[in-house]
Amino acid sequence: MEVTREPLPGAGDFRARQLLSRDMLRGDLEGEALDRYVEERVMTTTLDKAVAWARGNSFYPMTFGLACCAIEMMSIVGARMDIARFGFEAFRASPRQADLLILSGRVSIKMAPVIRRIYDQMLEPKWAISMGACCSSMGVFNNYALVPSDKFMPVDVHVPGCPPRPEALAHGILRLREKVLGTEKQGWRERYDAVGTEEVLTSGDTDGVQINVFQPGDTAGA
Ligand code: SF4
Repeated sequence: MEVTREPLPGAGDFRARQLLSRDMLRGDLEGEALDRYVEERVMTTTLDKAVAWARGNSFYPMTFGLACCAIEMMSIVGARMDIARFGFEAFRASPRQADLLILSGRVSIKMAPVIRRIYDQMLEPKWAISMGACCSSMGVFNNYALVPSDKFMPVDVHVPGCPPRPEALAHGILRLREKVLGTEKQGWRERYDAVGTEEVLTSGDTDGVQINVFQPGDTAGA
């Protein structure tokens, strides 16, 4: 195999920027050139946004698995998915050091208080992802022994599937990141301006008010 050396594209620009930086450090840049240099390189933001940016790009998930979904969760740190690309690979063995609880698998009624205790031991701010059908809606094991995660703790993101692929979990974590950064997408609510998703009450003192619940006894949405 023949190896050929080629100049890097944009190498000239890089050299020009280097010289510009040198002039700036020496105090040789003045007037318009200095203004342009500053405008191109200085970024202003708020402390809240900077903190959210740091938090959203460095989740520390708890080392915790419940059932078959946990196998998929474990694989997100492997070479194929490599969640380290986003900064979420540092799984912590103590709730004191973790800020993300991934509920990966079915939750039995016996296990729920244990999970709740782990969640309570995590320091604020903290987030939770419900991974898989079992955890969100009891899935194929929909019986008296299981409980959905929403019933005993707050959940930020639900990842559907049985099991969800590692890609789906990564997608869920990225959606959580958007939420932490305050840039979450509203999806269909945005596309359709949420028109047609509310029930309209036409009687009593709530006349004309749009709400998101059904009338008592109305089972149309059940
Ligand atoms: S959703 Fe499927 S893979 Fe996940 S715990 Fe339930 S049965 Fe297992």
